[in-house]
Amino acid sequence: MLRFNCPSCNKQLSAPEEKGGTTIKCPGCTKPMTIPAAVPIAQSATPEPPKKKSKPLMIVAVVLLLAVLSYLLVQSIRDNSKMMDDAGKRIDEAAIKAKKQQEENMRRIKGE
Ligand SMILES: [Zn+2]
Repeated sequence: MLRFNCPSCNKQLSAPEEKGGTTIKCPGCTKPMTIPAAVPIAQSATPEPPKKKSKPLMIVAVVLLLAVLSYLLVQSIRDNSKMMDDAGKRIDEAAIKAKKQQEENMRRIKGE
């Protein structure tokens, strides 16, 4: 048996499956209506939209993941460049200290 609702008065109706697709007069409001085919529209429509919705969600998830990954990549590059800058400063400081010590040593040698 097919179970369906009248589109006019929303009365729940039932008809044998072989009558699916045929037009009848609703026993509730007597308006003509088409009996839905063997697979009710409401049931066949519900499983499909989640599949269609899940794909954009996947794309959104992938895009978000890529955005997060690229953000992390940019952050790590920035951190690396900061570390490089710090290392360069340390090397400069060490070089200045070494020069000063060398100058002091030269003065000591000249003085003696
Ligand atoms: Zn009706």
